Amino acid sequence: MTIRTRFAPSPTGLLHIGGARTALFNFLFARHHGGEFLLRIEDTDKARSTEAAVQVILDGLEWLGLKADAPPVFQSTREARHVEVARELLAAGRAYECYCTPDELREMRETAQAEGRPPRYDGRWRDRDPATAPAGVKPAIRLKAPREGATVVEDLVQGTVTVGNGELDDMIILRSDGTPTYLHAVVVDDHDMKISHVIRGDDHLTNTFRQIQIYNAMGWDLPKFAHIPLIHGADGAKLSKRHGAVSILEFREQGFLPEALCNYLLRLGWGHGDSEFLSRDEQVKLFDLDGVGRAASRMDYAKLTHLNGMWLRGADDARLTDDVAARLPAQCGVEVTEAVRATLLNLMPGLKERAKTLQELTASSAFLARRVPLPFEPKAEALLTAEARAMLGRLLPNLAATDFSVAELDAALRRFAEAEGLKLGQVAQPLRAALTGSTMSPGIDATLVALGRAESLQRLQAVI
Ligand code: GLU
Repeated sequence: MTIRTRFAPSPTGLLHIGGARTALFNFLFARHHGGEFLLRIEDTDKARSTEAAVQVILDGLEWLGLKADAPPVFQSTREARHVEVARELLAAGRAYECYCTPDELREMRETAQAEGRPPRYDGRWRDRDPATAPAGVKPAIRLKAPREGATVVEDLVQGTVTVGNGELDDMIILRSDGTPTYLHAVVVDDHDMKISHVIRGDDHLTNTFRQIQIYNAMGWDLPKFAHIPLIHGADGAKLSKRHGAVSILEFREQGFLPEALCNYLLRLGWGHGDSEFLSRDEQVKLFDLDGVGRAASRMDYAKLTHLNGMWLRGADDARLTDDVAARLPAQCGVEVTEAVRATLLNLMPGLKERAKTLQELTASSAFLARRVPLPFEPKAEALLTAEARAMLGRLLPNLAATDFSVAELDAALRRFAEAEGLKLGQVAQPLRAALTGSTMSPGIDATLVALGRAESLQRLQAVI
């Protein structure tokens, strides 16, 4: 059997991390088994689907490196096929026309509620002759669902889940306005797209019973189902805005690396020993559905940030330089010249050691692009006392006399500290403040070299 999975988001809200994780699991499962991963945009709810949400899905998946193996299928384009299958079921006697008016249905619901029963359709048109239909009422098509026995889902994550057929009513597959219902469309599409494994959030588990009834009515083979637990906020509540970033592109905005986010989302709800840090290749090699837990997981932003810092330290310097250069103008209001970019690349090994997100990395890189007079952070300002400025004044000619190599700068700094009766740090700290406007930067020699002679001396002069 060819393994084929799909991610089937509805573009009614922004792609969130729960959806991203579902996509990731589908992607990894397909890759692990040498299969295909497809994307289907479920845009049948025309009132609530938006172009913007479709774009976020496409951009988000691309950013996360979860591109589908074929162009996306838009569910709305397949309506004629959904109708065709509903008509086939009708012709085969597996479905029937229901001429209930909205008023009748409302009454049915209200009576059920009053009697404390769940509101279900009572099947009144199931065996009735359509010739007795009231004039002028357009029928809906309902599935003739089995009344006896039970429907069983052999779920690869949840195990065997059973519901008595008596608890399911005859669902509408084609509305009276001729449009297919969502549950029906999903079954037809999954069948036609030859999906072997339906991996989705466990909020869809109850839909599965009804979907299985459609497969059975058509005599189609069932795909395998795997319903994965949802992601909750750290407080255990359903994830929402108040928990912080929710839309996948907000994580990009805040400076998370896609591989760190994927790594985090994978580990949230899937276990493989103690391995915390996994590359995409390792993920593909190790991922399978038997490692997916059944409990809802909790989103922990602190843990994600920590993991992001680890990925950042391992990331390629040129790539980080591109990213930071692109962020600097908007985030810090500075311009990035070619010279600044080169400096940034030089200093990147030291800069990335100290940042947990690209936003932090950008903030700590901004000093390279600034011009005198630099803005000073309060802590840096505090270091630059009159005494310190005078000391820097005496230091300047010593630095100017070097060739501005790490070796000579280092030697000059040590000699100077000794002559002044100071510890190296007592010289380096104010010097760092003067050069960067901050108290944190890569090593002082590396910073001097990266800024270069002219720029370093000009910055020093400005505080002296
Ligand atoms: N469109 C559904 C959603 O966005 C997913 C349906 C499915 O995976 O079967 O929640």
